[in-house]
Amino acid sequence: MLRETPFYVESGGQISDRGEIQGEGWRVDVDEVRRVDGRIAALGKATGKVESGRARATVPRDRRRDTERNHTATHLLHAALRKVLGEHVHQQGSLVAPDRLRFDFSHHGPLTPQQLNEVETLVNRGILDGVQLTIEQKPQAEAKAAGAMSLFTEKYGDIVRVVSIPGISMELCGGTHVRNTSEIGVFKIVSETGIAAGVRRIEAVTGRAALDYYRAHERQLQEIEHLVRAPSGQVVRRVQTLVEERRALEKRLEDAMRTGGGGAIKSLVDQGSIVNGVKVVAANVIAPDLPALQAMGDALREQMESGVGVLAASFENGKNTMLAVVSDDLRDRGVRADTIMRELAAAAG
Ligand SMILES: [Zn+2]
Repeated sequence: MLRETPFYVESGGQISDRGEIQGEGWRVDVDEVRRVDGRIAALGKATGKVESGRARATVPRDRRRDTERNHTATHLLHAALRKVLGEHVHQQGSLVAPDRLRFDFSHHGPLTPQQLNEVETLVNRGILDGVQLTIEQKPQAEAKAAGAMSLFTEKYGDIVRVVSIPGISMELCGGTHVRNTSEIGVFKIVSETGIAAGVRRIEAVTGRAALDYYRAHERQLQEIEHLVRAPSGQVVRRVQTLVEERRALEKRLEDAMRTGGGGAIKSLVDQGSIVNGVKVVAANVIAPDLPALQAMGDALREQMESGVGVLAASFENGKNTMLAVVSDDLRDRGVRADTIMRELAAAAG
C-alpha cells in the first residue's frame, strides 16, 4: 500500500493499471490493483525483501496512454450511437483495456452496415476535430441538470467528476482520459453483435491497435493478391473472374458426366470383359465427388446395355469409393449391385 498511488483501480469498465514499484533493494511487479478498506492496494510478485520506506511506483506510459485512448473513445462512441440510433441508447456495460474497448448498449436488433459506418465516421470526426477535454468536480444535482450522462447502476457521491468533450459528450466518470481527442489517432469498429435481448455490443480499437488491425488486413490482402496472381488493385476483378471460371468448369464437368464423359464411358464399355456370358466393366475413374461418380455410373449402365459395372474413384476429400451398377435386364434376373459391393468389400478384406 502506498501513501500516494499512480495505479488506476478497475472502475467504470476501465481495467486496473499494471506496473512496478521499486524500493531500496526490492521491487514488485504489479499485476493487480484492488480497493481495500477505501484505500488502493497494489498486488504482485515481489523480488527481494519488501520494506516500508521510500518507493517509486510507475505505470508503463504506452500502456496507460493506450487505455486512455480507448477510454475516451468510448465517450465518443456513446455519443455517436445516441446521435445515429436515438436517445434510447444507454450504456449497459463497458470494458476498457490497452488493446481494445468493448461497449454494451441498449438497442433492438443489429446495426446496418450503413449505421455502423455513420457511427465510426462520427467518432473519427470527433478525433480529427481535436477537441480539448475538460474535467470538473461539481455537485451531482448541478451536473445532472447540465445534462451529464450517468450510469443507472453506479452510485455517485454528492460531488461528482464530470468529463466533457465540449460539443460532443458530457459524462460522470472517474477514469483516465486523453487531454485532446486527437491523441486517440483513429477509431475502428471490429465487431457488432447481440449479447442479450435488446443489448448490442460493439468492439473497437484505437491508436496503435487500430494501425495493427489495418496492417493485418493489408497483409492478408497482399497474400490474396499473391495467391491469385493479381496485380495490386485488381484483386477483386481477378477473384470475380476465378469464381466465374470455376462455375463454368463445374457446369462443363456436370455436362460431361451426364453425357458419359465425352466417349470415356464408351471406351470403358469396349474394354470390358465377358465373364460367364455377362459383360463386366471394372475401372478406376477420375471423379471429384460422389454425385459425379454416380453420374458416371448412370452413364455406364445406359451404355453397356446389359452387364455389370464397378467404378472406383479417389475423391477430392481423400476418400476412396467404389460404385457398382447393374443393367436392368440383369437386375430383373436377380443380380444386385449391393450384393456385388458386399462381395467386393469382403474380397478386399
Ligand atoms: Zn471516462
